[in-house]
Amino acid sequence: MNTHHSLIHINLSALAHNFNIIQQIAPQSKILAMIKANAYGHGLTKIAKNLPDADGFGVACLDEAAALRKAGITQKIVLMRGVFNHAELNLAHQLKLDLVIHHKDQINLLSRQTTYWLKINTGMNRLGFLPDEIPEIYEKFKYNHLILMTHFSSAEETSDLITSQQIQSFQEITHNMPHEKSMANSAGILNYKESHRDWIRPGLMLYGISPAGYHPHLQPVMTWRSQLIAIRYQKKGDPIGYNQIYLCEENMPIGIVGVGYGDGYPRHAKNGTPVLINNIEVSLIGRVSMDMLAVDLRKIPSAKAGNPVTLWGEGLSIEKVAGYTASNAYELLCNANARVRSLSN
Ligand SMILES: *Cc1c(COP(=O)(O)O)cnc(C)c1O
Repeated sequence: MNTHHSLIHINLSALAHNFNIIQQIAPQSKILAMIKANAYGHGLTKIAKNLPDADGFGVACLDEAAALRKAGITQKIVLMRGVFNHAELNLAHQLKLDLVIHHKDQINLLSRQTTYWLKINTGMNRLGFLPDEIPEIYEKFKYNHLILMTHFSSAEETSDLITSQQIQSFQEITHNMPHEKSMANSAGILNYKESHRDWIRPGLMLYGISPAGYHPHLQPVMTWRSQLIAIRYQKKGDPIGYNQIYLCEENMPIGIVGVGYGDGYPRHAKNGTPVLINNIEVSLIGRVSMDMLAVDLRKIPSAKAGNPVTLWGEGLSIEKVAGYTASNAYELLCNANARVRSLSN
């Protein structure tokens, strides 16, 4: 019995389907499935185990990599932050990890057995070496298994030159280097075919969400459900919830849903944010509370306490919900924190 009224459902056949779509879009490339941040909130080891054809997995920190090895994952695992001291290097060795090298303090942590992903900063200005620093570092690492990589800042946009310039800059610095190369995140995979190269690094797309506008073939992996826990009938002008930010437009039925910002639903979701009940989109009204939120039930006056509610996923895209918040699909996924989860094919 789910007494928390918040259930995250993970659809594993949607995951397999999305993986397949990615393979079709970039048939020549190997796939490093990005599963950092608990696989974008979907569950780290469950997602990894259900991507048997992924050529590798990208994680942020050693704990995530250790959890994957413990769960029996044998594919390549890339530590996107790399290591910062010898203890971490040793642990990374034991776990047979590939290491990103992005910072000068990491250059002396060189181990001949390790595969390094040398990160080139072509404009993101977060991690990585500038192109003019690369030749010197390359000399140190070129006898290792080495993969050259960069990361896009804005590939969901196609109306500017930022990504093309990043691709060109990467190309210029690496074209004489006979090593594998990797550039594309999901947006690059979708919008910039010339960025596919040896390895692509999809994250969001795996979970069925396009960062580059609606994609007809991707299927959402996560569906977040709750329930109506009360129905009320309010009079015209009645305020709803904290701070009275919504006043009833007429005499109307209101539903209270058993989920709130304490479960990771965005507190700043605006009045009008869609919520799906009985396959009908209704509007969030008033402020989201810690473990409840209110909806306008005028479109479904027959709704009853106990009826299931979908916050996002099948039937209601998370991109659409995100459009009513100051956030994006990535953050909403990572924050969704149901105490109950279920899986199906
Ligand atoms: C998270 C991440 C990705 C995946 O990005 P998406 O936009 O989710 O596809 C790719 N590369 C790096 C370096 C990342 O950190």
